[in-house]
Amino acid sequence: MNLNNKHVTIIGAGVAGLTAACCLADWDIHVSVLEKTPFPGGHAIQLTCKATDTCVKCGACIAEVKLSGAIRKPNVHIFTGTQMESISGQGPYRVHYRSHSPLVNADRCNGCGICFKKCPVPGTILQGQAPRVGPYVAIRRDLCRYFDNAACTLCRDSCPQGAIHFSNEATAGELKADAVLVATGFSPYNPAAKPYGYGLFQNVITSLDAERVLRDHYLMKRPTDGRTAQRIAFIQCVGSRDAKSGHLWCSKICCGSSLRMARLIQSRQENAEISFFYIDVQTFGKNFHSFYKEAQENIKMIRAIPGDIINTKMDELQVIYFDPDTHSSRDAIFDLVVLSVGLMPSAGNARMAGELGWPLDTQGFMPPRSSPNQPVPKGVFTIGTATGPMSIAESVSSAEQTAFEIIHFLGER
Ligand SMILES: Cc1cc2nc3c(=O)[nH]c(=O)nc-3n(C[C@H](O)[C@H](O)[C@H](O)COP(=O)(O)OP(=O)(O)OC[C@H]3O[C@@H](n4cnc5c(N)ncnc54)[C@H](O)[C@@H]3O)c2cc1C
Repeated sequence: MNLNNKHVTIIGAGVAGLTAACCLADWDIHVSVLEKTPFPGGHAIQLTCKATDTCVKCGACIAEVKLSGAIRKPNVHIFTGTQMESISGQGPYRVHYRSHSPLVNADRCNGCGICFKKCPVPGTILQGQAPRVGPYVAIRRDLCRYFDNAACTLCRDSCPQGAIHFSNEATAGELKADAVLVATGFSPYNPAAKPYGYGLFQNVITSLDAERVLRDHYLMKRPTDGRTAQRIAFIQCVGSRDAKSGHLWCSKICCGSSLRMARLIQSRQENAEISFFYIDVQTFGKNFHSFYKEAQENIKMIRAIPGDIINTKMDELQVIYFDPDTHSSRDAIFDLVVLSVGLMPSAGNARMAGELGWPLDTQGFMPPRSSPNQPVPKGVFTIGTATGPMSIAESVSSAEQTAFEIIHFLGER
């Protein structure tokens, strides 16, 4: 089958989009991947490896493997800082996009990290976790003070390589696509509305924040004073299985991911005391049962979801919960609280679905074309967590399977 005159546009360069890009490229198909953020790799590239003395099969390393694979394929072109604007045609399609040029010149940047130290707004400069891909530094336009009032140029002025330039120019472009693949992933739940003080108490962080802390500092440091947290609480199901928010689904990955993180912390911080507040533990995955058994012996498991958190005068966190064993209200003091946030439909799903004519499910995800009665546009496909919560391994497998459906579709055409 000769497919070297075929073009596929993938929207989203997370682990699912990158996996599909590699599979399609192996069949000589020309692949364009549009990624709205400055980095390819999606959420998975932001995760930290949870291996202790052995691999615990968290899957975090898969994203980097897929990213370095996709970058090396000559027929895969990744457009970062790029959003799909609209789509026209009935197949083949024309995909119209708008692209911001990166603020950091990757050829000049040597990853020295001086810009991180100079930047006054934490989180504005991002370091990609992809050593195989080279230093991957990017600046978030939405947080950068240069774009606020054009006053701050500290990072640019301090860069010894002259790698940073500020420009807000956007270019528009168009791609021909014989097939379009939606791999726009998920949005992590924003827990600001929950009574846990997220956004008010700096030592209440999300599980995604915790991934960054461990990656950047190796130990679980408190944001307020940089002390290593000893007493740590994990609160599960924040935003998932939550009737109040209307999110009844289980996000599937949170229990495994948080327990692996808890054991990683204990392997690095001998005296860490970890409490795990949960509804019930979802033990998916091969060998997870034996890992879970061992985790239970080292972690205080509390089958309750806390009702409130108070920041004490001593800058500790008082967690209040209903103890199912004693049937009474109890509290416990922690240095740090990690909220295990659920996987929500990607913020742009409704717009994307409207543009493509793809029906959303009742939860707001874009389900795969599994139902024969479901009318979906020909040549449009969906994969990964754009379709619903799933792990990295499941996202990879959905991408591989769908890539073969696309190859079959293009071959027939
Ligand atoms: C805190 C946390 C911990 C986790 N831990 C684990 C774990 O230990 N093991 C595990 O297997 N899984 C874990 N996961 C789940 C894992 O992150 C997902 O399975 C994986 O990231 C899904 O990949 P994806 O490509 O489907 O989506 P994403 O990673 O969300 O990637 C989608 C990409 O599409 C881009 N995009 C979105 N909309 C557009 C648009 N309109 N135009 C262009 N680009 C767009 C996004 O910027 C993003 O880069 C964790 C998730 C969280 C939040």
